[in-house]
Amino acid sequence: MFEPLLPLDEALALLRAALPEKGLPRLGADRDDPALDRSAMDGAALRHADGMAPRRILGTLFAGDDPAVFRVGPGEAVRIMTGAALPSGADAVVPVEDLRIEGGQLFLSRPPEPGEAVRPQGSQARSGDELLPEGAPFNAARLGLAAQVGHRIELPPRIQVGIASTGNELGKDPLPYQIRDSNGPMLTALAYRLGADALALPSLADDPETLRQRLSNLGGIQILLTSGGVSMGDKDHLPGVLKELGARILFHKIRLKPGKPMLVAILGDCVILGLPGNPQSAYLNALLFLPVVLARLEGTPERNPWRRGQLVEAVKNPGERPLLQPCTLEGDRMFPLRSKGSGDLITLAKADVCAWIPEGGMEAGETRYIEVV
Ligand code: AMP
Ligand code: MG
Repeated sequence: MFEPLLPLDEALALLRAALPEKGLPRLGADRDDPALDRSAMDGAALRHADGMAPRRILGTLFAGDDPAVFRVGPGEAVRIMTGAALPSGADAVVPVEDLRIEGGQLFLSRPPEPGEAVRPQGSQARSGDELLPEGAPFNAARLGLAAQVGHRIELPPRIQVGIASTGNELGKDPLPYQIRDSNGPMLTALAYRLGADALALPSLADDPETLRQRLSNLGGIQILLTSGGVSMGDKDHLPGVLKELGARILFHKIRLKPGKPMLVAILGDCVILGLPGNPQSAYLNALLFLPVVLARLEGTPERNPWRRGQLVEAVKNPGERPLLQPCTLEGDRMFPLRSKGSGDLITLAKADVCAWIPEGGMEAGETRYIEVV
């Protein structure tokens, strides 16, 4: 029977809507940019009107020198380096390639042009101009611009992401009926790869009291990734405990394979990504949802994780959910791997990407993919 599960895009939209957007303050020019006429080349600053006449060299100006020590008159020039302010009287810079210096005299190989190789005062911006409107997401170039206009903006601290696996079956030296915790280290590595301050927490037994205790003492953790315990089994206590603690459940269950039981909730100041326990599901849902939360909490722009590529052969996908199919990638060509389903970490570990296969499956052809990082 058809279950009206939440499509991925709608789940992502709900998550975005629940988290406020942060942005940078308005950035305005605190002075003309450049603040004075400046040389754009290494060469000689001179008066273009003197044409080809040889010039007497008065000295040299380096970037950072006060240009007031020189005044360029008729028949004179000052050697000048890129970034140095122009001395008064000069209105052009002839680059070194086009001049020759002999016995303190400067000779040109061609006539100078007015304003040549000069960055005029205020040509980039006038004092008071708006350079970036309020609310732009943080990026490195914008931080540089803030510094340029004398505005000190601190780097946003790394977001603290806690990772806790759940399951009574997890053991360090597993008996045949137990398994090792692969999700914990995998999700910790993923959070680290995505730029978070990843903190591996002890794994949690499948009992409501243990979950309650953990969720009631989150310390400074801003995002909690759990794996397991969110589906319909008798020991899947996470949804119930979250409700009991008054968490705001944004959604539970999405239309995606693997990863149907995915749950996202907000408890106090902490965003909880309740990932399914099967390793492919846990990985792929974290890969899809964690970057969105990180971007919102950091105030950085969200990056589109999808690329387009060519699936080289047909992939079946019976049922009502789109499938993320592990593939290797060569150029933009995707080669599907024989995955044994959501528990198959061996195949995921061989994959470069996961291809989006619509419900019902698809023939060879173009589709989107997400990179396995
Ligand atoms: P669950 O979502 O808790 O029902 O778990 C689904 C499947 O994923 C079960 O086969 C679990 O044994 C397995 N699983 C759960 N947690 C982990 C983990 N941390 N590492 C590896 N496999 C897990
Ligand atoms: Mg479990």
